[in-house]
Amino acid sequence: MNGRWTRRAILAFAVCAGLFFVGQVAFRPWLALGILFLSHLLILFSTLVPNCQWWGPVVTRFETKEREVWLTIDDGPDAMHTPRMLALLARFGATATFFTIGKRAEELPNEVARIRQASCEVENHTWSHPSGSFWAFSPEKIGREIDRHPVPSRFFRAPAGLKNFFVHPLLARRKMQLIGWSVRGLDTVSGDPVAVSARIRQGLKPGAIILLHEGHRTESDPEFHPRCLAQTLEILAEEGYRCVIPRLEQLRAGGR
Ligand SMILES: [Zn+2]
Repeated sequence: MNGRWTRRAILAFAVCAGLFFVGQVAFRPWLALGILFLSHLLILFSTLVPNCQWWGPVVTRFETKEREVWLTIDDGPDAMHTPRMLALLARFGATATFFTIGKRAEELPNEVARIRQASCEVENHTWSHPSGSFWAFSPEKIGREIDRHPVPSRFFRAPAGLKNFFVHPLLARRKMQLIGWSVRGLDTVSGDPVAVSARIRQGLKPGAIILLHEGHRTESDPEFHPRCLAQTLEILAEEGYRCVIPRLEQLRAGGR
């Protein structure tokens, strides 16, 4: 069953559950409540579990037989971090895709240009990164978050990976794909670059998509994100992995 049909089935079930509840709550309250609860649970699960494929395909890996991974860095650009990240990538001969916040990209066009000059890629991570509310946005608001991004993009990553059932049709209309990840270092919550890179090492495999961040803790701990990237690049080198940007036809949604 592809994403479109799964999405329709879940939404149709939610409508039926609502009607059943209204019609039956007076006669079979526990059954009516149970079915309503289940329909809500399905919607919440598809929305709040980042790489869940029920609303539509979320790219979580790419097809390769080589020891290759796709490094993705979210939440930039950042005047302090981006040049540091690019220097580290250059030192290791690595490339990456930067999922940038549109507002920041507009404020820092030079950093966007630097990313491109370094043969890295700039993609869309919304206009304003509304991580707490994006999952509950209307189609109009989601469309604005995608379209206001100043950089034309093929790929979109939802804030914190949370996406509701409007996101896939809006992306399809724009010929964009929703990109998730195979492994994340949890570098926005962890305080230890060694723990971040160790987590990534555990998830390494050919075709893995790695998620890291920049542009956080720029005052409290400005070295943190560059250290996470440096540690990760060292681990990739130790394990014999190369960073590449996969071709469109290599992208895959779901488990292998
Ligand atoms: Zn983000």
